[in-house]
Amino acid sequence: MPYYQFTCRSCGSFDCNYAMADVPLESACPHCANTSARSFGGAGLVKTRSAATRLIDQTKRTASEPAVVGAPPSNTGSRAFTRNPLHRKLPRP
Ligand SMILES: [Zn+2]
Repeated sequence: MPYYQFTCRSCGSFDCNYAMADVPLESACPHCANTSARSFGGAGLVKTRSAATRLIDQTKRTASEPAVVGAPPSNTGSRAFTRNPLHRKLPRP
């Protein structure tokens, strides 16, 4: 259920949770119980970071704080990086 903003004349604005079909134009203030009118504002959109921005941040972090590995990955010794039998037919250097 979305939140709707109401403004009390003495306490200020507050948010209430109503179903979209049941949202009233006035609501009781939770602090002083005065009738408060609904206030209309812009949509509460959240701007998320783009994939490029996240990649740049990760790259900067690894440049200054590289991950330290204590041991090689466990499957390195078996030379089997894939289980697909068609990969055995690929040319090797
Ligand atoms: Zn109030």
